[in-house]
Amino acid sequence: MSQLSVILPFHNESAGVRHLLERLYPALGKLGLSYEIICVDDGSSDFTFETLVHERQFDQRLKIVRFARNFGKETALTCGLHLAKGQVAVTMDSDLQHPPEIIPALLQKWHEGFEVVHATRANRKTDGPLRRCFSRAFYSIFRRIADIEMPEGAGDFCLFDRKAIDAMNALPERNRFMKGLTSWVGFRQATVPFDVEPRDSGMSNWNFFRLLRFAIDGISAFSTLPLRVWTWCGMLVSFGAILYAAYLVADTLIYGVNVPGYASTMVGILFLGGLQLMSLGVIGEYLGRIFTEVKARPLYFISERIGFDQ
Ligand code: UDP
Ligand code: MG
Repeated sequence: MSQLSVILPFHNESAGVRHLLERLYPALGKLGLSYEIICVDDGSSDFTFETLVHERQFDQRLKIVRFARNFGKETALTCGLHLAKGQVAVTMDSDLQHPPEIIPALLQKWHEGFEVVHATRANRKTDGPLRRCFSRAFYSIFRRIADIEMPEGAGDFCLFDRKAIDAMNALPERNRFMKGLTSWVGFRQATVPFDVEPRDSGMSNWNFFRLLRFAIDGISAFSTLPLRVWTWCGMLVSFGAILYAAYLVADTLIYGVNVPGYASTMVGILFLGGLQLMSLGVIGEYLGRIFTEVKARPLYFISERIGFDQ
């Protein structure tokens, strides 16, 4: 029975597997705990799975699941938490951006009694300027409107006590914005800052549109403010319209009927049309997510599992 489960999502990381394990084994060896390493191959199209299977020859504590297709990192982490048998689990990226040498510091906090420990990035040096700007905007919006507190710089490098693992596994939703859910479950939470490293090999799997969708997923999962704000907009516009109507009545009584009004009519129509489309769009975003949830499809399918009991 392992005490620690390390959960690693892989998507086209074959070139980095060896480097990762070369640093992970020594870091884990020093802990004095029994451990398992759960590798989730998230529908890689390179030799990631084969490389992992090869590595397993040398250490049976490496356990491997292969997804039937690419289900996304959040789903891969969720699967890892489902399969974890440890008293404590650590999720981390497999591209060495999350240094394995931080794991002892996370466990130290766990020994102190914390049940969820976020490793938070101390800087964003490895991100490009656009992405840095975007991340900052996202966190500042998220912190203002979401119903949960998410530590600054929190990512998916995180430790979970068994209680927190069970809590995460009890969440039924399909939209799994992990860093939000991790904060949402509660328990005693702590943070440990670390310096993000550059990617070991390969390229980031995220482009601007994927990040944008991820950001909308996160905000919609933890706030209904984007839905409700239209009530206030509507009230404001109606109030403005009443004032404007009063002005028009007064203007007509004083100066008589003034027919030309093309520009103001157009501005009114376009402004309100835009506002309505935007609010409809927001409703659509939520509706789409409700649709995904009610379909209640399984989160993922596993095509192969190696090293697990059943
Ligand atoms: N990843 C995954 N499935 C995906 C995309 C990414 O399992 O669909 C994994 C990837 O292998 C890596 C981690 O998630 O271990 C972080 O991905 P990436 O480095 O591309 O993201 P970034 O560090 O740029 O945020
Ligand atoms: Mg990365």
